[in-house]
Amino acid sequence: MSAKEKLPEILKRLKKEYPEPMTTLYFRNPFELLVATVLSAQTTDVHVNRVTGALFKKYGSVEDYADTPIETLRKDISSINFYNNKAKNIQASAKMIIGKFDSKVPKTMEELITLPGVARKTANIILSNAYGINAGIAVDTHVRRLSNRLRLTKNDDPVKIERDLMEITPKEEWGNISHLLIFHGRKICQAKKPIHKECVLYDICPSRNI
Ligand code: SF4
Repeated sequence: MSAKEKLPEILKRLKKEYPEPMTTLYFRNPFELLVATVLSAQTTDVHVNRVTGALFKKYGSVEDYADTPIETLRKDISSINFYNNKAKNIQASAKMIIGKFDSKVPKTMEELITLPGVARKTANIILSNAYGINAGIAVDTHVRRLSNRLRLTKNDDPVKIERDLMEITPKEEWGNISHLLIFHGRKICQAKKPIHKECVLYDICPSRNI
């Protein structure tokens, strides 16, 4: 069976398993989702939510992130990996959004990827989860691993994987497929010890013996 033929069955089974595919990052507006997504690189969503719980109470607007001394922002996110760089990118993005985009997070891929620290993955997450726009498919480490194990792609590069997934996935499912693969990757198809025997995709997965 080709990847395109297999995909509807994969989606059907995963949707049954995970009926509410959506980001597990907490946010109240598009800029907070940008902040949470930037913070989530190399960090769990649970840890990010713990930090943003306090952060979002202290910083109510894009201007707050732009105007605060960078040392303060650094300190407020210091329990997160790579907090120096992340603080720098968040503040630079806030300034650019104020200066170039009228204080609103832009709604296009082309504009979003001009923001510091925002590449296609983050842009896709913002577009899909904050605006309901399916411009592409967010490829994180789980999506990458599962796409390979399920042979939905032969590529290893996230941009190429995204392109392959977009070719075989109906556009209205672009947001969903990313969340479904992430949920399944976290719970069952883990990197080191995939739990094949509990997997709903077992009989159609070419990697069930790895
Ligand atoms: S059968 Fe195993 S390798 Fe295939 S998707 Fe399930 S857990 Fe992952």
